[in-house]
Amino acid sequence: MKIILLGPPGAGKGTQAKVLSQRLNLVHISTGDLLRQNVSKATQLGLEAKDYMNKGALVPDTLVTSMLSERFNQEDVKKGFILDGYPRTLKQAESLDVLLKEKQYKIDKVFYLDTSEKIVVQRLSGRLVCSKCSANFHKTNMPPKKDMVCDACGASLYQRQDDKEETIKKRLQVYQQESAPLIEYYKSKGKLVRVDSDQDANVVLEEIIRRSKENDTPKV
Ligand code: AMP
Repeated sequence: MKIILLGPPGAGKGTQAKVLSQRLNLVHISTGDLLRQNVSKATQLGLEAKDYMNKGALVPDTLVTSMLSERFNQEDVKKGFILDGYPRTLKQAESLDVLLKEKQYKIDKVFYLDTSEKIVVQRLSGRLVCSKCSANFHKTNMPPKKDMVCDACGASLYQRQDDKEETIKKRLQVYQQESAPLIEYYKSKGKLVRVDSDQDANVVLEEIIRRSKENDTPKV
């Protein structure tokens, strides 16, 4: 199975993708995580991407697409994948179509995690991320058992640089301008499934799993 998760920052794409990848035995490909790994290792790509990310802007399409193309060349992707955070522009969606064709892969469904702005801001401003395994927590909605320590691996938690209030606003603007048109793009291909992502994360998860198993053309 090959799935794309769409939706604004804070819609819960990363949280859902992590659990879904285990439940459905799929590879989780997060371009945000891949970029952050490059930034922390100070690779050439990381150095080029860092300023865009800290400002809440998109990293240029060519850089992200070639990073994804490399990831697609790895063996594990063959078992199926969840794309989280890619595509984010129409140009990336077209590049993805080319990459998929080369690999003879077909996207089964595109889940649009539809979320209100109020919830997004509340989720992002309280989000805490593990510095080692990138598990997500939340200061009030899902606090770790021990203050600023990851329940899963024991490493320290941090607040993402781009989860500061000013940067959140910028990211939401960028989403509206660049990424929202992808909803129509995948709707017109008959692949879009809308899920109300203001709901509790477990309810959203079960709905995605149920609908991923339906064989019919998705009803938006
Ligand atoms: P995320 O973890 O998905 O919220 O991504 C964090 C940041 O990484 C974004 O705000 C962008 O700066 C960058 N990024 C991640 N995925 C992409 C993408 N597909 N295209 C451009 N920039 C991206």
